[in-house]
Amino acid sequence: MTRRSTRPARRIVVVGNGMTGARFAEEVARRDPEGHRVHLTVVGAEPGPAYNRVLLPGLLEGAYTPADIALPEPEGPGITRLRGTAATGLDTAARTVGLDTGERLHYDDLVLATGARAALPPLPGLAAPDGTPAEGVTALRDLADHRRLENLVRPGAPAVVLGGGVLGLETARALAASGVRVSVVEAAPWIMRRQIDRACAGVLAAAYEDLGVRVHAWRVADRWSPGTGLVLDDGTVLPGDAVVVTAGVRPAVDLAEKAGLASSHGVEVDDRLSTGDPRVHAIGDCAAHPGGGAGLVQPGYEQARVLADLLTGTDTAARYTGARPVTRLKATGIDLTAMGATDGDQGAESVVVSDPAKRRYARLDVAEGKVTGAVLLGFPEAAPEVSRLFDQAAAVPEDRLALLQGLPAAGQGDGEAAGGPGEAHVCRCNAVTRTDIEQAWLDGARTRPAVAQATRATTGCGGCTRDVDAILKAMDGATGAAKVG
Ligand SMILES: Cc1cc2nc3c(=O)[nH]c(=O)nc-3n(C[C@H](O)[C@H](O)[C@H](O)COP(=O)(O)OP(=O)(O)OC[C@H]3O[C@@H](n4cnc5c(N)ncnc54)[C@H](O)[C@@H]3O)c2cc1C
Repeated sequence: MTRRSTRPARRIVVVGNGMTGARFAEEVARRDPEGHRVHLTVVGAEPGPAYNRVLLPGLLEGAYTPADIALPEPEGPGITRLRGTAATGLDTAARTVGLDTGERLHYDDLVLATGARAALPPLPGLAAPDGTPAEGVTALRDLADHRRLENLVRPGAPAVVLGGGVLGLETARALAASGVRVSVVEAAPWIMRRQIDRACAGVLAAAYEDLGVRVHAWRVADRWSPGTGLVLDDGTVLPGDAVVVTAGVRPAVDLAEKAGLASSHGVEVDDRLSTGDPRVHAIGDCAAHPGGGAGLVQPGYEQARVLADLLTGTDTAARYTGARPVTRLKATGIDLTAMGATDGDQGAESVVVSDPAKRRYARLDVAEGKVTGAVLLGFPEAAPEVSRLFDQAAAVPEDRLALLQGLPAAGQGDGEAAGGPGEAHVCRCNAVTRTDIEQAWLDGARTRPAVAQATRATTGCGGCTRDVDAILKAMDGATGAAKVG
C-alpha cells in the first residue's frame, strides 16, 4: 500500500508551455500522476496546445500535419493549464506571478520556461516602427510565424532566407520543396559556421544548389525593399516576395530581469537549475547554465527531467551538468550530423573523406583516443556510432575509416553493442536505442506515432524520424507485415 503524504501539495507555477515547459509538466505527471505531491499550473502565452516547434519547417513542407507535431500534455488532478495567458510580472518576495488577465498566482516554486524569441537584425526595412516584422518579413519561431510565412510565399515565386544556420537551411529546404525559388544569405564566411568546417560547407552549398537553392555566403545584406527583395551591400538584389529572418534568437528573460534575477545570455542557473532565488528555476532556451545547452531540445529535456526529479522529491541528488550537443540538419535529401569542435583541436588527429561529386564529406577529429569533433555529410551509416562515441567519450576504434563507413570495428561482432549500455541512441533527444524501438514494435507499436507514444522517439528534434521509419520497415519486413505510419 502506498502511503499518502499529509503535507499539502507543493504549488509549482511553470511560465511557458513550449517544448521544455510541456516536457517538465509531463515529467512531473509521470512521477506524481495523482497530484499528491505537486500541484502544477502551466501558464502559456500561445493560444493552443504545446507542439514541437523544431518540426515547423516540416509543417511548411507538408511532411507533417499540425496533429503530427502535437506534444503530449497529460491531464490530471494535479495540473491546471492556462492557455493564451502571459505572465507579466514576478514578485519574488511575495512569491507571486502576475498574469495579463489581472490574476495573481502564488507559488512555492516557479519554473521559467519562456524560451527565446527570433531576433530581427537592425537592417533598414525589416522592422515596422513598433518593432514587429515589416511587410513581407517574418521569422519562423512559432505557429503564428508559420501561418504568416505560408501567406507570404507561393510556388514559383522567389523568397529570401536571411541567415544560413541550421534553422535557415532547414527553412530554405522546406520552401524549395514547396516550389518556392529560394536564396539564402549568410554574413559569415560559410553556412552553418558554428557546426561545420569550411570544406564541408562548400559541399553542403553544392547539395543545396542541386535542390534549386542559391547560397550566398560571406555576403552582407544592406536593406529589405518590400516588393523588390533583399539588397546586398554591393547593390545586388536578391528578388523575393518574402524574407524569412533566421539570424539568431534572444532568450526571453524580461520577467527575470525585472525581478532582479541575474541574467547574461539567459537567466543564470546552477546545476540544480536554480536562479539566484532558490524558489525560482529556469530551463530550456531562457536558461544559461555554465555547461551550455540553450538553443537545443535535448539539453532542455534533460533539464526538465532533472528539475522534475528535484521538485517532486523523486531524486534529490539529480543534477544537470551541461551538454555535448550533436546537431542534425533536417533537410529532405540531405543527411548531415555534426558534433564538437569544427576546426580541429590543437593536437587532434583528423581523418577527412571528401567526395564533392557525390556531395559527401566526412571529418573525424580524435584526441587522446576520443572523438573531439565530427562532421558527417552523406554518411548516415556512421552517424549513430560516431555520436555515441562522442556522447560517451568512449575509445575510438583503430580503424577510423571503417568507422566512417559504418562498418563494425575489428573484433566487434554484428550488433555486439546492441542492448548494452554502450548501444547508440537512435533518438538522442530522448535517449532511445534501436533495441527500445524494436521492443516497442514487439509490444505492438507498429506505426511511428505508436512508437513515439511508447518510447518518445521522434518527439525531440525529429532528426531520427527517417531512422525510426527504417527500423519499423525492417521489423515489418522481417515478419511480412507492412505498415509505417
Ligand atoms: C524552426 C525551428 C527549428 C529548430 N530545430 C532544432 C533542431 O533541429 N534541434 C534542436 O535541438 N533544436 C532546434 N530548435 C530549437 C528548439 O526548438 C528550442 O531549443 C526549444 O523549443 C526550446 O524550448 P523552450 O521550451 O525553452 O522554448 P520554446 O519552445 O520557445 O517555448 C517557450 C514558450 O514560452 C512562452 N512564453 C514566453 N514568455 C511567456 C510569458 N511571459 N508568459 C507565458 N508564456 C510565455 C512562449 O510563447 C513559448 O510558447 C529549433 C527551433 C525552431 C524554431
